[in-house]
Amino acid sequence: MSGGSLIVVLGDQLSPALPSLQAGDKARDRVLIAELIEEATYVRHHKKKIAFIFSAMRHFAEELRAAGWTVDYVPLDAPGNSGSFTGEVARAVAACKPERIIVTEAGEWRVAQMIAGWEAAFGVSVEVLPDTRFICPLPVFREWAQGRKSLRMEYFYREMRRRTGLLMDGGEPAGGQWNFDAENRKAAAPDLFMPRPPVFAPDAITLEVLALVGARFADHFGDIEPFHFAVTRRDAEAAFAAFVQRALPRFGDYQDAMLEGEPFLYHAVIAQYLNCGLLDPLAVCRAVEAEWRAGRVPINAAEGFIRQIIGWREYVRGIYWLTMPGYERRNYLEHTRVLPEFYWTAETEMACLSAAITQTRTHAYAHHIQRLMVTGTFALIAGIDPHALHEWYLSVYADAYEWVELPNTVGMSQFADGGLLASKPYAASGAYINRMSNHCGNCRYNVKQRTGPDACPFNPLYWDFIARQRGRIAGNPRMAQMVRTYDKFADAEKARIAASAAAILARL
Ligand code: FAD
Ligand code: SF4
Repeated sequence: MSGGSLIVVLGDQLSPALPSLQAGDKARDRVLIAELIEEATYVRHHKKKIAFIFSAMRHFAEELRAAGWTVDYVPLDAPGNSGSFTGEVARAVAACKPERIIVTEAGEWRVAQMIAGWEAAFGVSVEVLPDTRFICPLPVFREWAQGRKSLRMEYFYREMRRRTGLLMDGGEPAGGQWNFDAENRKAAAPDLFMPRPPVFAPDAITLEVLALVGARFADHFGDIEPFHFAVTRRDAEAAFAAFVQRALPRFGDYQDAMLEGEPFLYHAVIAQYLNCGLLDPLAVCRAVEAEWRAGRVPINAAEGFIRQIIGWREYVRGIYWLTMPGYERRNYLEHTRVLPEFYWTAETEMACLSAAITQTRTHAYAHHIQRLMVTGTFALIAGIDPHALHEWYLSVYADAYEWVELPNTVGMSQFADGGLLASKPYAASGAYINRMSNHCGNCRYNVKQRTGPDACPFNPLYWDFIARQRGRIAGNPRMAQMVRTYDKFADAEKARIAASAAAILARL
């Protein structure tokens, strides 16, 4: 090529609207996309996640070629594939002698560090463009965060509503309220009609990837088949359209519910598409707003969905870039216990955990409340090392990238940042799971029992957590009541709690 630009497209940048592609020239530039062993193994990702991303990358390369781009696509098993971003860019620079490299900023700090070294390593100018697929530019988030003592999502979310105009009637929130979360806490009944996300049969490209991943990553967690993910923009849009039609109207009502044998309930199951670029966050929010304005979905569903995307998703990205590096090692509660083996095997008699981990192994998916209030809460009250838990979440979900997973795990779920993100630790006894799910009826443990060998393990661990961490949490207004309740227990009950918790922890 000698002369044009080398446009490097990362595996989570599969969007034609990508700034680096917009800045390029199809007639002169080359696009580099590479499957990299380093990226597939820096944590041992779920087999289905690796297959999803590789197949989506291969389909995106085809999409770009059809649009007139020259694409150098490096499959995992291509001769000479060095296995790393820097190695592949080095090979491309040596072969094509570009006059500059263009890349859209990386989602992860680790990759951004690599990119920062390219100019010096290759003697070629490197242009790093802001990722405009996000709604809140990072400097805007930094400015919002500056000088605030508490970075609560709710205030940020209101700014995003104003910025996008989503669900706004002039300067006021549509429906008269910013947030309808109070209406979104219904437990699902087992006889409700449950929509299922559409399934997409693997095409020839996906079948080839499934064989490759099955052979090369056989020892990674998770089932590779059945494989039903969309791997093209068109199919991802069809999956989203099916959600809007079939599940969105009840999305709000049952957002926090859990049901045995129903892994998806009324959730969208689109985070894996949003996070790799197959769906555009603002476009899906506009489509959901249009459904509400047309009278086809209630306000609590539309607002709940839009809040997750322009609120939570943008907010955790802002927190990630505000706090990295270092956030990944935060451990405010000084938890050091190793991650129990059953997080990988699902072999536990706790029905709620077994269900969440089994479906994670099958689908590379669990919905938010399973992540937060089942696997997350258990790890919190059992005192598991938050870094080990972070690596688990990053490995096992098809939608997991560090910028979104880390703040959710370290901040929201484990309170390991001391309350920068969450207003209280998400510690809970079995009563919460019993209220929101039907798992307890199928469990070997008794959710009503606080201590003893048959007690739901969440119960003694919860009270033991309160006792162990009281010095750090008693001052939190949202925890003070539980600390006072614990203090009122008779000494004998406190001793039974401590003994039951110790017995459970010893078995982990
Ligand atoms: P829905 O429930 O249908 O929500 C719609 C969309 O809103 C999601 O697709 C997602 O893009 C967005 N969203 C919802 N909640 C959040 C949130 N808390 N943070 C960011 N975006 C949100 N989400 C990821 O995308 N990747 C992760 O690696 C990830 N790790 C998590 C780890 C923990 C411990 C917890 C508690 C949450 C994590 N989440 C993560 C957030 C959330 O659980 C998932 O986005 C959601 O379950 C994806 O399923 P869905 O598409 O059906 O979402
Ligand atoms: Fe989970 Fe406890 Fe209920 Fe069993 S009894 S399903 S461990 S909450």
